[in-house]
Amino acid sequence: MKQLAVLGATGSIGASTLDVVARHPQRFRAAALTAHRDVAALVDLCARFDPDVAVIADADRHDELGAALKARGLRAEALAGAAAVDAIAADTRFDTVVAAIVGAAGLSSTLAAARAGKRLLLANKESVVMSGELLVRTASAHGARIIPLDSEHNAIFQCLPRDYAREPDANGITRLILTASGGPFRGWSRDRLATVTPDAACAHPRWKMGRKISVDSATLMNKGLEVIEAQRLFGIDPSRIEVLVHPQSIVHSLVEYADGSQLAQLGSPDMRTPIANALAWPDRIDAGVQRLDLATAARLDFEAPDLVAFPCLAHAFAALRAGGAAPIVLNAANEIAVAAFLDGRIGFLDIERVIASGLERTVNEAADTLDAIVGIDAEARRHATAALKG
Ligand code: NAD
Ligand code: MG
Repeated sequence: MKQLAVLGATGSIGASTLDVVARHPQRFRAAALTAHRDVAALVDLCARFDPDVAVIADADRHDELGAALKARGLRAEALAGAAAVDAIAADTRFDTVVAAIVGAAGLSSTLAAARAGKRLLLANKESVVMSGELLVRTASAHGARIIPLDSEHNAIFQCLPRDYAREPDANGITRLILTASGGPFRGWSRDRLATVTPDAACAHPRWKMGRKISVDSATLMNKGLEVIEAQRLFGIDPSRIEVLVHPQSIVHSLVEYADGSQLAQLGSPDMRTPIANALAWPDRIDAGVQRLDLATAARLDFEAPDLVAFPCLAHAFAALRAGGAAPIVLNAANEIAVAAFLDGRIGFLDIERVIASGLERTVNEAADTLDAIVGIDAEARRHATAALKG
């Protein structure tokens, strides 16, 4: 029986994870659940899953959480604050950590799980982008096993040799090809993109996700973050990572080998497949997903990404090549710009402007400790906030 700590349990990945967990009560127990501010949603999950611990990241809501659990007759211990989330990630009562917090807020708990040698099921791509080699190094030093939940990286994980040790050449790997749906605005002109509203950006044609990643998918920054994530997780040179637009989101990514073979993982666009794969690995379990019927799907289309209409992807490749602080700045500027766009404070095309402005002034600082990363992130957020005004 695996004892799970689900960080970000009230989100989209959290819900998909708990759906798979509920299908396999003999294999998995949701033993700790965390949320940001939504006490009612967290307590509802506690009523369904009966965890040992419930954590609300907003430290001011400790009493509210305690009272709500008591009122429902639930036995979960109530904890609050960001440090409590980190403590749960490291707590030896839980062997598996699902890192499903959105954004840089997930960095320290992801690292805490790696340091504690956990089985780390990783959805929080921003923490991978920010932490460079630090996360992977920490995991390997402490015997943590990272299994990616992001559908592309999980697809690649499934297409790699089982004992893959981040040495592409030793395994005859020539390229990683990440597929991208192209988002809701594939084929749009720049003039039309300038008119995009938050609700339109969040209405993704294939995937139902949280609002931040939905906007990232619409700008293609999501794919940019994923290119960096792939470089970190699989230890491959940036020049050997490519993006292929595939609007049907059935082929979730590919690995190319020296003999010309390309191995792909296919499935319905449903996050429960990569989540079930990561939860049960190396076993295979039912994920509750609709079976893929290729005869009904009928066609699979592929095209090159349009880096002129969607420069965020080009910015991400540039930040990856630049290294050092650049990926941290890219991520921080993007988080600030996306939050402002969702609030109606800036337009859709201002997102790429704020990111470009951050990258222009980036110096190639070393970013190999948590303190250095947090410092670069904070400075980049200050600059991006000032750049919002244009
Ligand atoms: P979401 O917004 O639906 O959920 C985010 C979760 O994080 C919520 O439980 C929220 O309470 C918690 N949270 C937010 N801010 C927090 C803070 N400051 N401190 C502590 N907790 C906080 O997001 P999501 O779509 O589930 O995405 C989560 C992560 O998974 C993101 O990094 C995203 O890029 C990645 N991801 C998501 C999908 C998807 O299909 N949704 C697919 C691949 C990767
Ligand atoms: Mg993805």
